[in-house]
Amino acid sequence: MTVATHPFDALMDITPRPATVFVKGEGSWLWDDTGKRYLDFIQGWAVNCLGHCPPAVTDALAAQAKLLLNPSPAFYNAPSLRLANALVELSCFDQVFFANSGAEANEGAIKLARKYGTLHKNGAFEIITFEGGFHGRTLATMSASGKKAFEPLFEPKVPGFRKARLNDLASVRRLINEQTVAVMLEPIQGEAGVWPATDRFLRELRALTEQRGLLLIVDEIQTGIGRTGKLFHHEHAGIEPDIMTLGKGIGGGVPLAALLATEHASCFEHGDQGGTFNGNPLMCAAGLAVIEQVGKPQFLKTVVDSGLYLESELQRLSARHGLGEVRGQGLLLALDLKLPIGASIVAQAFEAGVLLNSPQADALRFMPALTVTRDEIGTMIDCLDLILTKIGAARRVA
Ligand SMILES: *Cc1c(COP(=O)(O)O)cnc(C)c1O
Repeated sequence: MTVATHPFDALMDITPRPATVFVKGEGSWLWDDTGKRYLDFIQGWAVNCLGHCPPAVTDALAAQAKLLLNPSPAFYNAPSLRLANALVELSCFDQVFFANSGAEANEGAIKLARKYGTLHKNGAFEIITFEGGFHGRTLATMSASGKKAFEPLFEPKVPGFRKARLNDLASVRRLINEQTVAVMLEPIQGEAGVWPATDRFLRELRALTEQRGLLLIVDEIQTGIGRTGKLFHHEHAGIEPDIMTLGKGIGGGVPLAALLATEHASCFEHGDQGGTFNGNPLMCAAGLAVIEQVGKPQFLKTVVDSGLYLESELQRLSARHGLGEVRGQGLLLALDLKLPIGASIVAQAFEAGVLLNSPQADALRFMPALTVTRDEIGTMIDCLDLILTKIGAARRVA
């Protein structure tokens, strides 16, 4: 046995992390082991849709933990049946497969599309995805992603993904051939820096895929579960996709994801799909607690209101400091900084006790709890205002 020289060294060093250990969370707030409090506008990367440790979720977990953890995915359990039926009722889809991460749900979507191609389209297997898209970190989902930094990694990639340009229907049309089975996209490209597909593009894409007999797959892992003001983002465009994946928010902080399909697209046969932990009652109980809250029209209205407030405050800040546009919808927003100062702002905000994310050098992304208050938005904006003032003064001196 080797003795790690520092407790941090026992974890694989896969990303730069601040030398801080978090021990407690409540709502929009996190505490580290020195007792310092942080206002969290990352929320586990848009995961904790009801904030940290929401009682609805922790109570559901505690109750289910005492009843049944995992009977086996080869048997039915009550929470997974209830959650699947709730999702079917609240969406245009007919069947659900539960997974443990977004990437795994997307792997399932890719497999389902290929199965559909085998059954209905003469073995067609190619999926058109998009430049800048992000679908996860398994080999197939990295291959489906259009993230530049992924390109040289882990070659050879999984074949069968061709990249079109977001909001450019002609670029999609050009890639369609007899091998094409589906088009897959994030309605708002989150990891790339919050780049929305327009509602018009989503409608045109739906019409095109329908006309050419292709499946439309929406990756709503970041945009789903109320994040943009509707339960699922594609509702804004009024379209009905064939397949949708959910993750992040659906578990309210615990690992839960889902693959949903219409009856027509739901074509797995015995042996095609499975997984040891899939649809376990513990995680599904958390998902049910989330859906019971977020699925309410009144809840979604507060998300819309909070999103508009955050957007207008960011626009004021942008005007005051000569920054760029505010992108996104609901509580998935980005501020264009026009300069590569994102990492510096994130570091200064961390010192000041505010957690922010910079998905690109020149942008900040905001993904607070859907329950964030106006006061909390105000506190974050004040902090950012101070930092931007300091940066502005330093630039004028330099
Ligand atoms: C986060 C994310 C994923 C991957 O989900 P994991 O749970 O990290 O595997 C896939 N697609 C989108 C759009 C995401 O935001």
